[in-house]
Amino acid sequence: MSFQQLNLTEPLQRALTQQGYITPTPIQLKSIPDLLAGKDLIGIAQTGTGKTAAFVLPILQRMTEKYPRVLRVLVLAPTRELAAQIGDSFAAYGQFLKFKHTVIFGGVGQGPQVNAVSRGVDIVIATPGRLLDLMNQGKVSLKDIEFFVLDEADRMLDMGFIHDIKKIIARLPHKRQSLFFSATMPPQVSQLAHQLLRNPVRVEVAPQATTVESVKQCVFFVDPGAKEKLLLELLLQKHLTRVLVFTRTKHRANDVTSYLRDHNVKAVAIHGNKSQGARKQALENFKSGRTKVLVATDIAARGIDVEDISHVINFELPNEPESYVHRIGRTARAGAEGTAYSFCSAEERDFLKDIERLIRLKLEVMQHAYHSNQAQNAVGSAARPPPRNQRGRGHSRGFRHNQNRPHFSRH
Ligand code: AMP
Repeated sequence: MSFQQLNLTEPLQRALTQQGYITPTPIQLKSIPDLLAGKDLIGIAQTGTGKTAAFVLPILQRMTEKYPRVLRVLVLAPTRELAAQIGDSFAAYGQFLKFKHTVIFGGVGQGPQVNAVSRGVDIVIATPGRLLDLMNQGKVSLKDIEFFVLDEADRMLDMGFIHDIKKIIARLPHKRQSLFFSATMPPQVSQLAHQLLRNPVRVEVAPQATTVESVKQCVFFVDPGAKEKLLLELLLQKHLTRVLVFTRTKHRANDVTSYLRDHNVKAVAIHGNKSQGARKQALENFKSGRTKVLVATDIAARGIDVEDISHVINFELPNEPESYVHRIGRTARAGAEGTAYSFCSAEERDFLKDIERLIRLKLEVMQHAYHSNQAQNAVGSAARPPPRNQRGRGHSRGFRHNQNRPHFSRH
């Protein structure tokens, strides 16, 4: 089934072609027709399934039925990073339409956000606390909202946003289309869904298969100063044939690349500071096998579609657990087996905790020459049992924890 068969209008089709999307994902197939028909929806799906496009596309299409410049769409998201990503999706899929959006979140001055709203926007993507604050100051009004999306509801509740969310919902017009997304449905979340939705269609999709099913996921506890040596030793193993290394910053990507080159490993960095030509060349060399290692930041890695990546190495863990899912999804494409190694220092234990919670799996702890007890014993997930219902899951999939393996046992 193609996007044409979903009856999306020409400007949206054109934007999708530009994004390089050819076929809709299962959640898009299941949701878009009902959303175009104006129904409420409860979607049980994780990040990585294409759920953002599943709601952004039909909302944009329904918006084109009229063009008043008032705030008509509100999307609530738990974190500023997710809100920004959803904002990027509205921009990308709506690039041939005339709507304006803005993102509202806390931790920064409110001035620019208030100005953006007062200049006139059709779409606001917000985290609950700051939005409520601006509503209480009379800077944002929800009286014209026609489309309301609550994204990652389970995470919102985990983060303690329930009261803010309820206050925001109470101020929405009764006549509206509401969409509710959550990766899990514990009772409190499902109760909230029932309060919010009217005769919703229920759509459930399995998490992206690559994440849990076909990627071996291991963690190396290591001090920051030993990460480069550990990376080098891993890369010297022959079965690491095509490796994508992730860092959090461009600066770090450059440093790691220089270190590897100094030690005769063919590596290249790819990030936003590079020219289009340099990025293209780097990718071609990686695809052809001339370069074994590509070092990338999360942003730069978007759109990298290279088959046969044997290993993804998280030199630094992402602070957003969704980024971990995106990162490791780069390996194990098209049914192939893949491996993801994550380096975790004491400072990164909280990130690891968030990741294990999102993927509902404990990463296998690898023993190695640079093992750091300090990193392993730092307060974090290792001190606590695995997330709900998942105890022993690693074992059932053949993972053994803390075993005395030989260094760098083959994965
Ligand atoms: P999401 O679950 O919304 O975070 O989307 C996960 C990733 O899949 C994003 O990087 C999207 O750009 C990408 N994506 C969404 N829909 C499609 C599609 N139909 N074809 C290819 N990639 C897609």
